Amino acid sequence: LKNVTFGYEDAQEILHEFSLTVRQGEHVTLSGRTGAGKSTVFKLLLGLYEPWSGAVNVFGQRADQIGENDRRKIFGYVEQGFHPVPGTILDQITLGDTNLCREQVIQALDTAGLLDAVQELPKQLDTPYSAALFSQGQIQLLSIARAIAADPKILLLDEVTANLDSNTEQRVLEALQAAARSRTVL
Ligand code: ATP
Ligand code: MG
Repeated sequence: LKNVTFGYEDAQEILHEFSLTVRQGEHVTLSGRTGAGKSTVFKLLLGLYEPWSGAVNVFGQRADQIGENDRRKIFGYVEQGFHPVPGTILDQITLGDTNLCREQVIQALDTAGLLDAVQELPKQLDTPYSAALFSQGQIQLLSIARAIAADPKILLLDEVTANLDSNTEQRVLEALQAAARSRTVL
């Protein structure tokens, strides 16, 4: 990000001349008070918004010009809260992307440490998703599996261990360590 100024609403700047360079393979933490704009940086990187001024580039390409298909190969995004899609466990991870095969989904669940729990379900990957199937921590692991399934180069992790008890947090941290290996992480 180079000299990025951005706000969601007119005349309400969230970021002012903000610059940040992350090199391939680096693991970088953004810290700041609530409302400072940390999640906003992720949304700009994902190309969901255009900066008012300045530039947001990913691998030399304007972030908002990266196509839908390329985006999942570049970014794995673990949001501040899990957003389920209608459908099965498999659908939670593929998000309907038919380029992702079952083998990749299983691999992602394994890396996230959720494969055993899914295999105990009556219809395994084909079990219809409901929030009641999993604990809060397991839902985070599912979210991590979703983020890494397409083998992205960059992981964007937004407060993924907030609101977890310390045991669960440990499991999520282990999953993240496995997921972060050989990737660029914010
Ligand atoms: P937290 O630590 O609470 O997650 P944050 O640093 O991630 O905070 P952001 O979510 O980036 O902060 O929000 C920055 C500011 O932008 C806040 O004032 C927030 O209310 C505002 N904001 C975020 N999303 C929107 C939106 N879609 N429309 C309007 N304002 C928004
Ligand atoms: Mg945030």
